[in-house]
Amino acid sequence: MEPLCEYCGVATALVYCKSDLARLCLRCDGYVHSANFLSSRHNRSLLCDKCNSQPAIFRCMDDRISLCQGLFQPDGDDLCETESDLRQQNQSC
Ligand SMILES: [Zn+2]
Ligand SMILES: [Zn+2]
Ligand SMILES: [Zn+2]
Repeated sequence: MEPLCEYCGVATALVYCKSDLARLCLRCDGYVHSANFLSSRHNRSLLCDKCNSQPAIFRCMDDRISLCQGLFQPDGDDLCETESDLRQQNQSC
């Protein structure tokens, strides 16, 4: 399920603004955050590609996905390894 932008309500949200507590599409992100100096300093994160509701804190370059804190497992030294291991396990089941 694609998360919708909370500003325009029609486009797919891709970023999460912690200051506004809002999910925004790229167009509204540019619009809202170019409004003034203060808002241009808002810290935005990409949305988690797995749950689509939390801001992502981790980006896996190999899989080209972003993950939020809840899904990022710092125990493993490489999340991509963990992910592919899981996939292999699923396939063998
Ligand atoms: Zn929008
Ligand atoms: Zn903002
Ligand atoms: Zn998530």
